[in-house]
Amino acid sequence: MVTETTDKPRVLVVEDEADLITMLRYNLEREGFAVDEATDGDEALRRVAERTPDVVVLDWMLPVTSGLEVCRQMRRREDTAEVPILILTARGEEHDRVRGLNTGADDYVVKPFSTPELVARLNALLRRSQPARDKGALTYDDIEMDLSAHRVTRGGQPVHLGPTEFRMLRFFLQNPGCVFSREELLKAVWGPDIFVEPRTVDVHIRRLRKALNVADRRDPIRTVRAAGYALDTSDTAYA
Ligand code: CA
Repeated sequence: MVTETTDKPRVLVVEDEADLITMLRYNLEREGFAVDEATDGDEALRRVAERTPDVVVLDWMLPVTSGLEVCRQMRRREDTAEVPILILTARGEEHDRVRGLNTGADDYVVKPFSTPELVARLNALLRRSQPARDKGALTYDDIEMDLSAHRVTRGGQPVHLGPTEFRMLRFFLQNPGCVFSREELLKAVWGPDIFVEPRTVDVHIRRLRKALNVADRRDPIRTVRAAGYALDTSDTAYA
């Protein structure tokens, strides 16, 4: 008897190489994922509109609509804005990786990659994106985070954050004024079992700052030279 299990994490694999799709489907299904696939960017956007996946594996070089454009459009749509996206890039496309993270991707792996690494990273993304069990609200200065509704406002204005920025801001709000190194932020936001380049932190800090920059309000994140970052507005004339 075939039963439709609904508790499997649903991954959308967007890849135009047939062999790679077959390999990914085989391995991800074996690891307990429900796998959907799309072979170009337009199909990917149709798929996510039909059914919101839990996580997306997105090839960067795609025919018709690029991975970059898929990422950008998903981030713009309310129903897919918070779906974690892992991009696949070819070796040597360093520039594309940074562009991908700037566009709203949450992580990347470089082709050729090992399946265990990809699965570990997908599981880490899923853990991070699962709705926070904690309820209530965190506030600092004019920033408010509603944990149950997963909403952030600044001075009453909505702030739109990706999943990584949300977790990063939550960590800052839980520890206001404390200075954290990149390594400490990596451990707190990404988890201890995942390797992320320290400068990835800078990319997400930049995104968080940009998102919090509503209505000409001050940058609430202080860069501490040679030490890291802190949520701190205390040393400013915050009139
Ligand atoms: Ca490709």
